[in-house]
Amino acid sequence: MAEIIYTYKDSVYANITNKCNCRCTFCIRFVKNGVGNAETLWHQENPTKEEVLDAIKNFDFSGYKELVFCGYGEPTCQLDILIDAAKYAKKEKGLKIRLNTNGQGSAENGRDIVPELAKVIDSVSVSLNAPSKKEYEEVTRPLFKDGFENMISFTKRCRETIGDVRWSIVDVLPEEEKDRCIALSKEHDIPLRIRKYSSNS
Ligand code: SF4
Repeated sequence: MAEIIYTYKDSVYANITNKCNCRCTFCIRFVKNGVGNAETLWHQENPTKEEVLDAIKNFDFSGYKELVFCGYGEPTCQLDILIDAAKYAKKEKGLKIRLNTNGQGSAENGRDIVPELAKVIDSVSVSLNAPSKKEYEEVTRPLFKDGFENMISFTKRCRETIGDVRWSIVDVLPEEEKDRCIALSKEHDIPLRIRKYSSNS
């Protein structure tokens, strides 16, 4: 069975599902099977809620302050597990909770999920990936027609409701696209992180 909880650099990650509604051209899943101390992050079957809760319960979080929901899939594609696992980790393990997401969660679940997230998530990192609809669709290849707009409005809702929210892009973007991402981040007052391509999303 693939790892549900794994460590990478100084953080602990929860890999709760391999489901995803995007097909990013740079997705690390298509390059290697594992990240950090995990040999594989491909589940033979996506874990049940009980398996995820057990994995959190049994992991020794000594020295770690935060649990990041990320992994080889989009956590909001398994919203019920995400919410309950985040609630459990916060209450029973005293951890801060971060969500790394592609920003399609409200479209995926057919409703504004941000109020539900706000109860259990402390910070959110949304993959911006590109500064315009056309470029976003080329690189992210979302299953939704309005993927770019979904991602922007989801991030703005998180900014209003959760507060600690940022966009991320990878450092392989051309300078001119990076500059337009920086402009977009200023326009919407959403901090931007430019991360190395090889790091965890
Ligand atoms: S959203 Fe994340 S998991 Fe999904 S294809 Fe893109 S990089 Fe991969």
